[in-house]
Amino acid sequence: MTHEEQYIRRLMNKGYDISVTVITGDKCPCMTSRDSTVSEYSAVWHELNPAPDNEHCNGTGLINQTNTVTSVKSFLTNELETMATYLSKQLMTEIGEKHNRYLMMFGCVAAGVKFDLSILDRKNATFTYKSKNYRLIHSFDLDCCQIGLLFQKD
Ligand SMILES: [Zn+2]
Repeated sequence: MTHEEQYIRRLMNKGYDISVTVITGDKCPCMTSRDSTVSEYSAVWHELNPAPDNEHCNGTGLINQTNTVTSVKSFLTNELETMATYLSKQLMTEIGEKHNRYLMMFGCVAAGVKFDLSILDRKNATFTYKSKNYRLIHSFDLDCCQIGLLFQKD
């Protein structure tokens, strides 16, 4: 059994429960209204092209939306010392001021399979843990697992 397989087994047994809600859909026409090469949400486009003819993407850049909720497991910490072992000084300076709003994930699995944080559309993914909502702001790979840094939304 590889390190990663062992780690996945531990996560499935003892990890904390998190739900990940990912919004997917079709690209909203507002996204390319300003510059066809740079996709960016445009509130102005929606003002000029109001509903009901044009669905409002509400800043997500997606219309005809579908929410997919996945139950995942992860080990979590918000201990500054532990975070400092894995993160850059620059990031730690940012975190220092409001570290209570950050959570670090050590690995992420769904139904016994690695849940890949690196391919997530971060802007449209919400992590919910103990009724608080977070977004993923950073992720990278270790030998055994992926590290993810979550920041609590308002
Ligand atoms: Zn839009």
